[in-house]
Amino acid sequence: MGGATCAAALARTGARILILERGERLRDSANARDARAIFQRGVFRPQESWLDGAGRPFNPGNYYYVGGNTKLYGAVLIRYRAQDFEPITYREGTTAGWPFGYGELEPWYSRAEKLYKVRGAIGFDRTEPPHSQAYPFAPVADEPAIAKVRERMRSVGLNPFPLPLGVDVDKWLQRAKTPWDAFPDTGTGKMDAESCGVNEALGHPNVELRENARVERLLLGVDGKCIAGVEAAIDGERRRIAASIVILAAGAVNSAALLLASRDGGIANRSGAVGRHFMNHNSSAILAIDPRWVNDSIYQKTLGINDFYLDDGHGGPPLGNIQLLGRVTAPILKSNIRMAPEWTLNMVTRRSVDWYAMSEDLSNPESRVTMDGGRIRLDWKRSNWSAHEGLVKTFKERLHAAGYPIVLSKPFDRRTPSHQCGTVRIGRDPSRSPLDPYCRAWDHPNLFVVDASFLPTSAGVNPALTIAAQALRVTDHIAKTDLQST
Ligand SMILES: Cc1cc2nc3c(=O)[nH]c(=O)nc-3n(C[C@H](O)[C@H](O)[C@H](O)COP(=O)(O)OP(=O)(O)OC[C@H]3O[C@@H](n4cnc5c(N)ncnc54)[C@H](O)[C@@H]3O)c2cc1C
Repeated sequence: MGGATCAAALARTGARILILERGERLRDSANARDARAIFQRGVFRPQESWLDGAGRPFNPGNYYYVGGNTKLYGAVLIRYRAQDFEPITYREGTTAGWPFGYGELEPWYSRAEKLYKVRGAIGFDRTEPPHSQAYPFAPVADEPAIAKVRERMRSVGLNPFPLPLGVDVDKWLQRAKTPWDAFPDTGTGKMDAESCGVNEALGHPNVELRENARVERLLLGVDGKCIAGVEAAIDGERRRIAASIVILAAGAVNSAALLLASRDGGIANRSGAVGRHFMNHNSSAILAIDPRWVNDSIYQKTLGINDFYLDDGHGGPPLGNIQLLGRVTAPILKSNIRMAPEWTLNMVTRRSVDWYAMSEDLSNPESRVTMDGGRIRLDWKRSNWSAHEGLVKTFKERLHAAGYPIVLSKPFDRRTPSHQCGTVRIGRDPSRSPLDPYCRAWDHPNLFVVDASFLPTSAGVNPALTIAAQALRVTDHIAKTDLQST
């Protein structure tokens, strides 16, 4: 999201841009809409394992394609709330806030919503921050079953709002009648970093994309300050590529790993913070089952609830955000409950509505990415878990009150680093953050890290739009200050 958005914005400057992408374009195939292939056989997952904090290997849900993780994302393109930029006090601690306020990023959010063709509506959510421009498109419509869910949520005092989404739902459904959340996009209607970012950039003759180009190291110039370029394996052949500006955007785990692997002690690491402060969201799936009802929706994912986002509903510390998951069908549920036959799971999923509860993870220097004999080690220290438990409990109570007698929940585990962030954070103090507020490395004036790594807080909402907005802000800064002078 970060790299593609940078490329799309910088393309117009005429600068010569080379995008090095470790993966390939995700091409269409029968598997692309086959829930069993995606969720049970994991055909789109990487052939890679990372180590956890205890040194145990695991296969991470981290996707390497042109467009990165956004190829499988749920396309919820929501702004951080204005309060997320200021310190927030939770039950287990206080966030540090951002080096700038919401107002600084607001114009870039509007531009990002335009680039990613976001469908949404203002005025339904009390936490919605000010918008200088309306959403470019009206919200994706609720399916009839979901319109009923919305009414049921209202009947218990909640205020569901239309989820801002980057998807052309008619185009998506033309290919096959499936949800889009965690399904790969093969050019069939998702507004992702390939379809809106990379493809926009490649419309300019000064931009080139190299697939199968895995960057292995950043190269320091002779002065030890400037980055001279990168070393990459391109189609298996080792190449050195010189560049006057390097924008690193490999995702929060891989960008930190690359900086740490590039030299002893790491690059851009005067603060010692590279790889530290790793955050992910605390999240759970919640299935609300009403045996008297059938959920015949296909995609489901059109509403969110922020009634517990700024406080717990009684003036206590905040809990988090609730949103619909993509529709969970029996083949999807089976990937979690392997023993049960699909026909029994089908009896459950036909009658369930499926939710995603998400709470902020607080930054902690001991929660970190390190290199262990050339392998990535991700020691995620979850925090703020009691707020998340509070969110799940509070929402379950409302679901029971809304007439769902059976409500099941399961936390997402550490193999799912979908909302990874914070490992190369921005800040005002070079002794505490590797990057300045424009994502420029304090130590290296021609190095920018513009992906989820820069996020100083994880907030309690999905990260992609905030990454895109900051990418647009940073590239405007680069165009004005760096490209003018080269
Ligand atoms: C299933 C799923 C659902 C999600 N749903 C949502 C959602 O609804 N809304 C939302 O806001 N967020 C969602 N996310 C999260 C969102 O996709 C990420 O926050 C976002 O993509 C992060 O952007 P990024 O620029 O940090 O990294 P990425 O978008 O992942 O991009 C990193 C890129 O770098 C490439 N790369 C990595 N290492 C190298 C290397 N060494 N050399 C060359 N290239 C390399 C990768 O292949 C990739 O293309 C979801 C994620 C997943 C997995």
